[in-house]
Amino acid sequence: MLNIDLHCHSNISDGLLRPALVAARAKARGVDVWALTDHDEVSGIPEARKAAAELGLTYVPGVEISISWAGETVHIVGLNFDETNQDLIQGLARTRSGREQRAREIAAQLALAGVPDAYEGALKYVGNPDLISRTHFARYIIELGIYHDVSAVFRNYLVEGKPGYVPHRWASLQQAVSWIRGAGGVAVIAHPGRYRFDAIAFDALFEEFKNLGGAAIEVITGSHTVDQYAEYAKVAKRYGFLASRGSDFHGPGESRVDLGELPPLPDSVTPVWHDWKM
Ligand code: AMP
Ligand code: MN
Ligand code: MN
Ligand code: MN
Repeated sequence: MLNIDLHCHSNISDGLLRPALVAARAKARGVDVWALTDHDEVSGIPEARKAAAELGLTYVPGVEISISWAGETVHIVGLNFDETNQDLIQGLARTRSGREQRAREIAAQLALAGVPDAYEGALKYVGNPDLISRTHFARYIIELGIYHDVSAVFRNYLVEGKPGYVPHRWASLQQAVSWIRGAGGVAVIAHPGRYRFDAIAFDALFEEFKNLGGAAIEVITGSHTVDQYAEYAKVAKRYGFLASRGSDFHGPGESRVDLGELPPLPDSVTPVWHDWKM
């Protein structure tokens, strides 16, 4: 059975390794089919594809788009699209454009909470000046010794109700799905178990996504518990979604789940790759 990992990050967004090194790590860890899914950015794809080809790794173009839905941030993964599509490229550029100002506001809040120079501090970890993210602030907070791992930082900073949280308006669900589909790709709701919606809101999200042409949800992801694997396999069946699998790897020593490490999809679901030629 092929080891397929369709969700991870390089330093083109908030991962630690450059795309070619993520490819090498995927290969070394037994991945056969691999997608790099940087946040709101496709500029890592050429390097990722070239490295994958040299390693004999089957490459799938990917992206993880930040959207705002019902006042919450949701992530939509796009897979197997044409990354030179201009609507997609321009849409992503617009989505990224608020990050700089947001970062300055995050830093101003952190300064008031006793975390000095956070803008400059976060920037030291940024690989792509167009994509400064909360993860980069988290790394700086760790550098200062305030907390020792990313999840502890995200329990105490950078989230709603804590210092360094700046609400942000991302793309809409409709835009993200239409950019992905317009570029010939398949849209996937990332790590659904992470969103704090009630049953009514989840149903509305899944129905709206389906009506827009969304095709899949992540079932096996580094963000889900074992119980959530079964729960979202059932959701996939109920709504007629295909199922995806991905580690959401960000970096060695930082991510709980490494590339290629998760269990396979349950037999009850249809894989998102079922009709891909590879
Ligand atoms: P941003 O796009 O700037 O809002 O940053 C979002 C990123 O922060 C996510 O993609 C994760 O990499 C990271 N993140 C958010 N919440 C957590 C958490 N609880 N634990 C670890 N990383 C998190
Ligand atoms: Mn991330
Ligand atoms: Mn995500
Ligand atoms: Mn991710």
